Order: sequence, then structure tokens, then C-alpha cells
Amino acid sequence: MRLSKRQLSALETMGIPAWQERVPTDFPKAQDQVPTEQFVPVNEGVSETSVPEAETALPIQDTSTWDWSTLEAAVRDCQQCSLHVGRSQAVFGAGSQQADWMLIGEAPGEEEDKQGLPFVGRAGQLLDRMLAAIGLKREQVYIANIVKCRPPGNRDPKPEEAAACSAYLKRQIELVNPRVILVLGKVAAHHLLDTEEALGKLRGAPYLYADTGIPVIVTYHPAYLLRKPSEKRKSWEDLKLAVKLAGGNL
Ligand code: SF4
Repeated sequence: MRLSKRQLSALETMGIPAWQERVPTDFPKAQDQVPTEQFVPVNEGVSETSVPEAETALPIQDTSTWDWSTLEAAVRDCQQCSLHVGRSQAVFGAGSQQADWMLIGEAPGEEEDKQGLPFVGRAGQLLDRMLAAIGLKREQVYIANIVKCRPPGNRDPKPEEAAACSAYLKRQIELVNPRVILVLGKVAAHHLLDTEEALGKLRGAPYLYADTGIPVIVTYHPAYLLRKPSEKRKSWEDLKLAVKLAGGNL
């Protein structure tokens, strides 16, 4: 089956070579629902190994009644974990608070720390192209990270730091209440799905976020795709699955 002009255009937008026109095109119609049994409940079907228990996390606050302004102010002034020491500013998140799509990465990097926005720089530009490939603009989605403050040297956030920050992300997800969550990269996937399974094994199947019924799709972090463009084809498959779960079509 040949790709449509629109799909070819989407692949080109993501920088996927034309030879990948042979990507399978059995993409279901928008109205096709994924049977419930195809969802993989979080922690089921992945290894029993879990993220280690936080050693130094402070008690997580109950954010369940907070509105956006309360939440943002709390993050701005937060000193709940040691990451506050080295930050220029906390990176709260950005985008439409009524978005159908929520994208979750791991942590702010150097540029994000300077600008106070998630996913800027080259990885952010690739993310914009990935969104464009499925007909979305950055302003139409909501983007947040597992931790809101830059880890020193751009290292991965530690489990206790992610745990300390988790109540903020949980409330962001509650407030946005998206139709689908796209998790970008291994670190974010490990935290959100509470697993240490390899990303290659996590992607390709829908999960459910907590007990909300919100589907979660795992894909590669744009920074990884910049280092390994050959994996863009798999990311395109992940995006197509997320589009289907969000009730859209390509
Ligand atoms: S990373 Fe999260 S928990 Fe840690 S200081 Fe920043 S906002 Fe607070």
C-alpha cells in the first residue's frame, strides 16, 4: 500500500528518508477504537524491577485542589529537592491548558533553564517538526517535564528528585486531562510507568496513566533522535498510534 501525499509530507517533515515510504500503512481509521484489552496496565507486562525508593524526598504535598496559578507559584518557589540549588529558574511547563495532547520529558536542560521553557534548542525544533508531521502546533499541546529544575551537568534526574516533584506533574495532568500522553524518552517513561524496562520494549503498546483511563504512549526523546536519526521511523509509528488513541486521523 502506498503512502498518501499527506503521510509522505509528514515523513519529510520529520526528516525520515523517502525510502521509508515502505513503512506499513495499515493505520486504522480514526473512528476505530483500540479494544480495551490491548491496553497494557502500568506495571503489567514490564519487569518487576521498580525505580528505587526515594531516600531523601520530602513529603509530597497534596496538590489535588490546586489551580494553575497556585501550582505555578509553588513550582517557582519550590525547594523540595536539591535541584533548586543550581537552577536559574524552574521550568513549569507550557502550552494549551485545554490540550488533547500532553507531552512529558525528563528535565530542563541548559537552554530550558535559561529561557524558562521546556524543549527549546535543537531537540525542541525536532519536537516541533514531529508535531507538525501529525498536524499539531506546539501551542496546541501541553509540554511538561518529570522534574521542573535542571539537574547539574544535564545528568538524569535521581529517583528521589522525580519523587519530590511528582505531585506537581500529577496535578498538571489532572488539570489538562488530555486525551493522550506522549512520553518522550527513557527517563520520563521509567518514572511515569514505574519500571526500568528498556524503552525499545516499552514503546509500541498503549498504557494507562494511573486510574484515569488516559492512554500513554512511549517514544524516543528528540535529543536521542538527533543522535540516531534512523530511529525516527519507529517514532513515526509511535506518533501514529498516539493519533489513533487521541481519536484523530492522518
Ligand atoms: S525539581 Fe521539582 S521538587 Fe525539586 S526543587 Fe524543582 S520544582 Fe521542587
